[in-house]
Amino acid sequence: KVPKDCPLDREELGRATWSTLHTMAAYYPEKPSNAMKEHARSFITALSQLYPCKYCAVDFQKNIELCPPKVDSRVDLSLWLCEQHNIVSKKLQKKPFNCTMEVLDKRWKVGPASCYGKEEPKKGKFD
Ligand code: FAD
Repeated sequence: KVPKDCPLDREELGRATWSTLHTMAAYYPEKPSNAMKEHARSFITALSQLYPCKYCAVDFQKNIELCPPKVDSRVDLSLWLCEQHNIVSKKLQKKPFNCTMEVLDKRWKVGPASCYGKEEPKKGKFD
Protein backbone atom coordinates (compact mmCIF):
# COMPACT_ATOMS: atom_id res chain seq x y z
CA LYS A 1 0.00 0.00 0.00
CA VAL A 2 1.28 3.50 -0.92
CA PRO A 3 1.96 5.67 2.17
CA LYS A 4 -0.24 8.75 2.59
CA ASP A 5 2.59 11.28 2.39
CA CYS A 6 3.77 10.44 -1.16
CA PRO A 7 3.71 13.16 -3.85
CA LEU A 8 0.60 13.14 -6.03
CA ASP A 9 0.59 11.24 -9.30
CA ARG A 10 -1.28 12.41 -12.40
CA GLU A 11 -4.57 10.81 -11.42
CA GLU A 12 -4.53 12.06 -7.82
CA LEU A 13 -3.59 15.56 -8.92
CA GLY A 14 -6.36 15.45 -11.52
CA ARG A 15 -8.99 14.43 -8.98
CA ALA A 16 -7.83 17.06 -6.47
CA THR A 17 -7.78 19.79 -9.14
CA TRP A 18 -11.19 18.96 -10.59
CA SER A 19 -12.60 18.80 -7.05
CA THR A 20 -11.28 22.30 -6.35
CA LEU A 21 -12.51 23.71 -9.66
CA HIS A 22 -16.02 22.19 -9.49
CA THR A 23 -16.43 23.19 -5.83
CA MET A 24 -15.29 26.75 -6.59
CA ALA A 25 -17.80 26.92 -9.44
CA ALA A 26 -20.59 25.56 -7.22
CA TYR A 27 -20.07 28.52 -4.84
CA TYR A 28 -19.31 31.15 -7.50
CA PRO A 29 -21.76 34.09 -7.36
CA GLU A 30 -24.95 34.00 -9.43
CA LYS A 31 -24.15 37.61 -10.31
CA PRO A 32 -20.37 38.10 -10.04
CA SER A 33 -18.78 41.55 -10.05
CA ASN A 34 -16.42 42.41 -12.88
CA ALA A 35 -13.53 41.90 -10.45
CA MET A 36 -14.77 38.41 -9.57
CA LYS A 37 -15.12 37.51 -13.25
CA GLU A 38 -11.54 38.61 -13.83
CA HIS A 39 -10.36 36.50 -10.87
CA ALA A 40 -12.09 33.45 -12.31
CA ARG A 41 -10.61 34.00 -15.79
CA SER A 42 -7.12 34.63 -14.39
CA PHE A 43 -7.28 31.60 -12.09
CA ILE A 44 -8.15 29.26 -14.95
CA THR A 45 -5.59 30.79 -17.32
CA ALA A 46 -2.86 30.62 -14.66
CA LEU A 47 -3.79 27.01 -13.85
CA SER A 48 -3.47 26.07 -17.52
CA GLN A 49 0.05 27.53 -17.56
CA LEU A 50 1.22 26.16 -14.20
CA TYR A 51 -0.37 22.69 -14.23
CA PRO A 52 2.56 20.32 -13.58
CA CYS A 53 1.47 17.57 -16.04
CA LYS A 54 2.88 19.33 -19.10
CA TYR A 55 0.91 17.65 -21.88
CA CYS A 56 -2.30 17.97 -19.81
CA ALA A 57 -1.53 21.70 -19.48
CA VAL A 58 -0.86 22.16 -23.21
CA ASP A 59 -4.14 20.45 -24.15
CA PHE A 60 -6.01 22.50 -21.53
CA GLN A 61 -4.52 25.72 -22.96
CA LYS A 62 -5.71 24.71 -26.45
CA ASN A 63 -9.19 23.86 -25.16
CA ILE A 64 -9.45 27.18 -23.35
CA GLU A 65 -8.47 29.00 -26.50
CA LEU A 66 -11.17 27.18 -28.47
CA CYS A 67 -13.78 27.76 -25.78
CA PRO A 68 -12.78 30.51 -23.30
CA PRO A 69 -13.98 30.30 -19.67
CA LYS A 70 -17.62 31.34 -19.18
CA VAL A 71 -17.54 33.40 -16.02
CA ASP A 72 -20.77 35.44 -16.17
CA SER A 73 -22.59 33.37 -13.52
CA ARG A 74 -22.42 30.32 -11.27
CA VAL A 75 -24.39 28.31 -13.82
CA ASP A 76 -22.19 29.40 -16.74
CA LEU A 77 -18.95 28.57 -14.92
CA SER A 78 -20.23 25.23 -13.58
CA LEU A 79 -21.45 24.09 -17.01
CA TRP A 80 -18.28 25.30 -18.75
CA LEU A 81 -16.09 23.36 -16.32
CA CYS A 82 -18.26 20.28 -16.67
CA GLU A 83 -17.77 20.40 -20.45
CA GLN A 84 -14.02 20.93 -20.06
CA HIS A 85 -13.78 17.96 -17.70
CA ASN A 86 -15.78 15.87 -20.21
CA ILE A 87 -13.33 16.80 -22.99
CA VAL A 88 -10.48 15.36 -20.89
CA SER A 89 -12.55 12.32 -19.89
CA LYS A 90 -13.36 11.63 -23.56
CA LYS A 91 -9.65 11.72 -24.39
CA LEU A 92 -9.11 9.17 -21.60
CA GLN A 93 -12.05 7.06 -22.88
CA LYS A 94 -14.06 7.59 -19.72
CA LYS A 95 -17.83 8.01 -19.58
CA PRO A 96 -19.12 11.59 -19.86
CA PHE A 97 -20.70 13.26 -16.83
CA ASN A 98 -24.29 14.50 -17.17
CA CYS A 99 -23.76 18.27 -17.23
CA THR A 100 -26.98 19.61 -15.68
CA MET A 101 -27.09 21.93 -12.68
CA GLU A 102 -29.19 19.43 -10.75
CA VAL A 103 -26.57 16.70 -11.08
CA LEU A 104 -23.64 19.09 -10.60
CA ASP A 105 -25.10 20.63 -7.43
CA LYS A 106 -25.87 17.21 -6.03
CA ARG A 107 -22.27 16.09 -6.62
CA TRP A 108 -20.40 19.29 -5.68
CA LYS A 109 -22.61 21.33 -3.36
CA VAL A 110 -25.42 19.59 -1.55
CA GLY A 111 -24.89 15.80 -1.72
CA PRO A 112 -27.22 13.18 -0.28
CA ALA A 113 -28.34 13.29 3.38
CA SER A 114 -25.78 10.56 4.16
CA CYS A 115 -23.02 13.19 3.70
CA TYR A 116 -24.20 15.02 6.82
CA GLY A 117 -24.27 12.34 9.52
CA LYS A 118 -26.69 13.49 12.21
CA GLU A 119 -26.62 17.12 11.02
CA GLU A 120 -29.48 18.61 9.01
CA PRO A 121 -28.57 18.57 5.29
CA LYS A 122 -27.63 22.14 4.36
CA LYS A 123 -28.02 24.07 1.13
CA GLY A 124 -24.30 23.45 0.62
CA LYS A 125 -21.39 22.26 2.76
CA PHE A 126 -20.07 25.84 2.89
CA ASP A 127 -23.42 27.61 3.35
P1 FAD B 1 -11.90 12.49 -12.38
O1 FAD B 1 -12.04 12.57 -13.86
O2 FAD B 1 -10.71 13.17 -11.76
O3 FAD B 1 -13.23 13.06 -11.71
C1 FAD B 1 -13.36 13.21 -10.31
C2 FAD B 1 -14.83 13.20 -9.96
O4 FAD B 1 -15.44 14.31 -10.60
C3 FAD B 1 -15.59 11.99 -10.48
O5 FAD B 1 -15.55 10.94 -9.55
C4 FAD B 1 -16.99 12.52 -10.68
O6 FAD B 1 -17.75 12.42 -9.49
C5 FAD B 1 -16.77 13.97 -10.98
N1 FAD B 1 -16.88 14.30 -12.40
C6 FAD B 1 -16.48 13.55 -13.45
N2 FAD B 1 -16.68 14.21 -14.59
C7 FAD B 1 -17.21 15.40 -14.25
C8 FAD B 1 -17.65 16.51 -15.01
N3 FAD B 1 -17.58 16.53 -16.34
N4 FAD B 1 -18.16 17.58 -14.35
C9 FAD B 1 -18.26 17.56 -13.01
N5 FAD B 1 -17.86 16.54 -12.24
C10 FAD B 1 -17.34 15.46 -12.86
N6 FAD B 1 -5.11 13.00 -17.17
C11 FAD B 1 -4.48 12.39 -18.21
O7 FAD B 1 -4.14 11.21 -18.12
N7 FAD B 1 -4.23 13.08 -19.38
C12 FAD B 1 -4.59 14.39 -19.53
O8 FAD B 1 -4.34 15.00 -20.58
C13 FAD B 1 -5.21 15.06 -18.42
N8 FAD B 1 -5.55 16.37 -18.48
C14 FAD B 1 -6.06 16.99 -17.40
C15 FAD B 1 -6.35 18.36 -17.47
C16 FAD B 1 -6.82 19.02 -16.37
C17 FAD B 1 -7.08 20.50 -16.43
C18 FAD B 1 -7.06 18.31 -15.16
C19 FAD B 1 -7.57 19.05 -13.94
C20 FAD B 1 -6.81 16.96 -15.09
C21 FAD B 1 -6.32 16.27 -16.20
N9 FAD B 1 -6.08 14.90 -16.17
C22 FAD B 1 -5.47 14.30 -17.25
C23 FAD B 1 -6.51 14.06 -15.03
C24 FAD B 1 -7.85 13.37 -15.35
O9 FAD B 1 -8.83 14.31 -15.83
C25 FAD B 1 -8.48 12.70 -14.11
O10 FAD B 1 -8.56 13.64 -13.04
C26 FAD B 1 -7.71 11.47 -13.62
O11 FAD B 1 -7.56 10.56 -14.69
C27 FAD B 1 -8.48 10.77 -12.46
O12 FAD B 1 -9.73 10.37 -12.97
P2 FAD B 1 -10.93 9.79 -12.13
O13 FAD B 1 -11.59 8.79 -13.01
O14 FAD B 1 -10.47 9.35 -10.79
O15 FAD B 1 -11.95 11.00 -11.90
